[in-house]
Amino acid sequence: MKNFHLHLLIVYILISATTFTITEHQTLFSNLSETEDVQPIISQDYQSTAESYNLLVFETIQQDEFDELLLVNTMNPIRVDINSMDMLAITSDMSIRSKSEEYVNPACLNSLEQLFIDAKNLGYDDLIINSAYRDYHSQEALYNNRLAANLKLYDYETALAHTDQYVAMAGYSEHQLGLAVDISSTDLYRSYNRLEDIPSFQWLYENCYKYGLLLRYPKGKENITSIAYEPWHFRYLGQPTAEYIYMQNLCYEEYVNRLKDEEIITFIDENNESYTMYYIDHLDSYDFFEMGVNINNAINISKLDSSSYVIVVWNHYTN
Ligand SMILES: [Zn+2]
Repeated sequence: MKNFHLHLLIVYILISATTFTITEHQTLFSNLSETEDVQPIISQDYQSTAESYNLLVFETIQQDEFDELLLVNTMNPIRVDINSMDMLAITSDMSIRSKSEEYVNPACLNSLEQLFIDAKNLGYDDLIINSAYRDYHSQEALYNNRLAANLKLYDYETALAHTDQYVAMAGYSEHQLGLAVDISSTDLYRSYNRLEDIPSFQWLYENCYKYGLLLRYPKGKENITSIAYEPWHFRYLGQPTAEYIYMQNLCYEEYVNRLKDEEIITFIDENNESYTMYYIDHLDSYDFFEMGVNINNAINISKLDSSSYVIVVWNHYTN
């Protein structure tokens, strides 16, 4: 190998000696790389580095345990295993259920705890979590109960449409991920009527992104989400994804579509931290090395839908 590099150096010096201009130099360089002897050595170094890096990232993605950014809606059923044992109980001051406790994903719980502490410090002590993680069977029961209630009021088609507007069928609900919560206020006796008029909710809508939470079914986006406006349903996405979506006035479906279109989104948050979001289609053939995905700085690696992934990378502090 050493001799080969020496040979390469001599060839390079001889050719460089005849170089007069930058343009000519570039031409010679491209001629040099076309020769059979040299090309394999240069690309082998690059290729082996790229291949081992790509393999490392591929394995890291495979090992990542939880898909925080998984898109779940009427078109995207849950295709991952959700283990109810991974969920943690919500503390009683956030949820005052008498029959059973509520559970959520641990990352989501961390955020909710901080949100409730900050809310209380500001005097908003009426927020309450009505509903959180649901397993398949409780989602199924909820859907069937709502459908039965609607069937007493409407014909079958209308009852079905009304139900689908508010309750997802089992297998299609974010609540099954442990990443969604329905929040109400003790001032409203835990109902969802006129939540927007409550001061604590006005604060919540403007600040929930700081805790990685997104109002998942906003007003005006019903045609995109296929779900009616739900001022109570919040989805945990973590930072900076929740902030990006909030600042861009998108719903989650619109974010996913934009990411698929643009493939790379760079975002500077309100603290001047810079992030890049990479859309990874065809995981096993994606060139992470070529695309400059810095896996050491990845703050979120997640399945996005049935075949694609998203990697969120922290770049630097821009100030
Ligand atoms: Zn909900």
